[in-house]
Amino acid sequence: MGNRIGPCTFPNCADNHGTPYLTSLGMCEPCQRRLARTLGWLVMDWVGIHTMLPMPARRGRQERRTVQKVFGHPAEWASDTAAEIGVVLNETHDALAEYLGDTPPPHPGITERLRVRAAWDYLECRVDRLALTDFGGDAATDMRDLHNKVRSRLGLTRPRQLLPTPCPVCELRTLFRSIDIGRDYIECGGCGHVIHEEHYPFYTRMVLDTILDSAA
Ligand SMILES: [Zn+2]
Ligand SMILES: [Zn+2]
Repeated sequence: MGNRIGPCTFPNCADNHGTPYLTSLGMCEPCQRRLARTLGWLVMDWVGIHTMLPMPARRGRQERRTVQKVFGHPAEWASDTAAEIGVVLNETHDALAEYLGDTPPPHPGITERLRVRAAWDYLECRVDRLALTDFGGDAATDMRDLHNKVRSRLGLTRPRQLLPTPCPVCELRTLFRSIDIGRDYIECGGCGHVIHEEHYPFYTRMVLDTILDSAA
């Protein structure tokens, strides 16, 4: 495992000649960082969408089936997209846990927020192992496509999302995540403090904790 050299499986990996880098890691190291970032963004997308929902989404199966695939209403779009993110994260978690012989994740039926949280906890520190699997490339493609879809929609309607956690500097609840084309950053609207990208994983965990606690 991992010794075979082949083209990097991350979507659109390209060297100067437009061909994917050769690697024995499944994905080249820059692409593993891209995958880690995409995973973090997608979880933050879920957080952002989650805050748009009028109340904790708890829909029965019957109700689910009646949802039309026309995303006219923002709340409908939000709950469907949040569910879609939950599924992609849960399925990736499931596939990797099976591949590595670990305990399977909570399955559909368990609340979405618990599945998202479990997937983040499991996947965030195993990006290198996900990269080595034969489904890592597909998982990366799904995550990236979903993130791009969310970004193009939220970028138009809600380019700034208030996070449920206080600013680490001024302690006001004025932290915003901003989505721009090609940029994704967290900044305090009160004191201007910017959270650097390397601290995103820490923040993502804090934000997920806050959401889980407030749902109790
Ligand atoms: Zn690559
Ligand atoms: Zn601040």
